[in-house]
Amino acid sequence: MSTASLSSPALVDVIVIGSGIGGLVTASLLASKGARVLVLERYVIPGGSAGYFQRQGYRFDVGASMIFGFGQQGTTNLLTRALQAVNVSLETIPDPVQIHYHLPGNLDLKVHRDYEKFLQELTNYFPNEGEGIRRFYDECWKVFNYLNSIELLSLEEPRYLMRVFFQHPKACLGLLKYLPQNAGDFARRFISDPILLKFIDIECYSWSVVPADLTPMINAGMVFSDRHYGGINYPKGGVGQIALKLVEGLEKVGGTIRYKANVKRIIIENGQAVGVELSTGEVYRAKRIVSNATRWDTFEKLLPPEQMPASEKKWQQRYDKSPSFLSLHLGVEASVIKPDTVCHHILLESWEQMQEPYGTIFVSIPTLLDPDLAPEGYHIIHTFTPSWIQQWRGLSVKEYEQKKEEAAGRIISRLEKIFPGLDAGLDYMEVGTPRTHRRFLGRVDGTYGPIPRYKLPGLLTMPLNRTKIPNLYCVGDSTFPGQGLNAVAFSGFACAHRIAVDLGL
Ligand SMILES: Cc1cc2nc3c(=O)[nH]c(=O)nc-3n(C[C@H](O)[C@H](O)[C@H](O)COP(=O)(O)OP(=O)(O)OC[C@H]3O[C@@H](n4cnc5c(N)ncnc54)[C@H](O)[C@@H]3O)c2cc1C
Repeated sequence: MSTASLSSPALVDVIVIGSGIGGLVTASLLASKGARVLVLERYVIPGGSAGYFQRQGYRFDVGASMIFGFGQQGTTNLLTRALQAVNVSLETIPDPVQIHYHLPGNLDLKVHRDYEKFLQELTNYFPNEGEGIRRFYDECWKVFNYLNSIELLSLEEPRYLMRVFFQHPKACLGLLKYLPQNAGDFARRFISDPILLKFIDIECYSWSVVPADLTPMINAGMVFSDRHYGGINYPKGGVGQIALKLVEGLEKVGGTIRYKANVKRIIIENGQAVGVELSTGEVYRAKRIVSNATRWDTFEKLLPPEQMPASEKKWQQRYDKSPSFLSLHLGVEASVIKPDTVCHHILLESWEQMQEPYGTIFVSIPTLLDPDLAPEGYHIIHTFTPSWIQQWRGLSVKEYEQKKEEAAGRIISRLEKIFPGLDAGLDYMEVGTPRTHRRFLGRVDGTYGPIPRYKLPGLLTMPLNRTKIPNLYCVGDSTFPGQGLNAVAFSGFACAHRIAVDLGL
């Protein structure tokens, strides 16, 4: 790992606060265009929610494990493209199934990489809805095909918009039509079975953490189609490799990253962002400042909350913080996992509980794709379920540990339904709470990201990269188009593009 070769108060072109995937994509692309870039990361390794940690021979993903954006064709494979831009690459392992759902009423089905196989499996459960199912998912393909035909850059750059419009007028007009729409409206247009509509809800909830009515159609189009196009692909060596490779690329093209560099405040002079101050008191100045912290952290902690621009207040009225997660990182004996098990699972016993704390359980077993992440004869299971930080406040150390153990025990006993013998086969367990997510990921309340407070017009109200403060930009999951590694990579491409134009690169 490198430290900054730049000494305070050196002036660089761009400072990026945070080395999540959004921040690293911005930084590496700008450095590849010749900008002098400094990334300041508060933690000891890069990646944020896409980071990793190692314990007793296990290599765990901190958060993300189901990775979109590693396809080889089209324009939406933004992780592949971000790595290529800085001349690095990563071996990935194709995942034949996106999710194995274990849902109420014995609705037990797999989302296969093969589109027709998935439609067939779903239609077998809802034979009267075969046409509606196809029409809904085909509508998602229309969105995806439009997106996948154009270069995905900054919507805040008028010359790019003009160029792309003249090159692909049909795709642009199509995307304009879908931009203010939500997936639920399309689902109800084509489907009437209430249980099937609940299935569409959990299809959305599994990544947007809101039901279909609140999930933008643009995001649904990306996720529900790319899983059958570029597919889900797991990085060899674990998800943490993505950030490590981006850092390697960043440094190759002349950029710098400094770890244990906690930005305490963004310095504003004459109404413009001009630099940052670390908690050590060191000051760095730059022509442009990019915050990869969440918008709440950026405008309430790194800047004085009483000076929050009206547009940010408006954003907070529209978007709420989603819950965080209770996460269990488990090492288990290989015998617990049957040979035909797939990597990702979702378990829900009652539809009413879908959005409740501890309702939906997410499971990933990355060692089924990359056995090297665990000692021989063992698997990793990462399982998590929504949890609010309020439930974990005001506890003594003993109460906190006891609550963690009890909550973990309840999750494990529910998972016994899918993995009989799980409890008996445990070799290692580490439990993370919303407090852990807040502490290690630097995210307010440990939130997964913004969710609409009420039904909004699709993605239309999601902010882009520029902020009301001149020379200050935001990147990551609280900017357009939202959560997920490929989504924040999109945000990074757009942010780097806008800044490159602003700097005349
Ligand atoms: C449990 C879990 C499971 C998930 N599963 C998936 C999945 O399967 N697939 C998927 O695509 N996505 C998944 N996600 C979502 C995905 O991980 C995130 O949307 C994405 O990683 C967010 O990236 P980001 O660039 O916005 O920032 P973050 O990952 O939040 O990174 C921000 C970085 O900024 C640093 N930072 C913050 N404040 C400061 C400061 N003041 N000074 C210096 N540094 C600072 C942080 O330390 C961090 O490294 C999951 C998330 C979680 C939590």
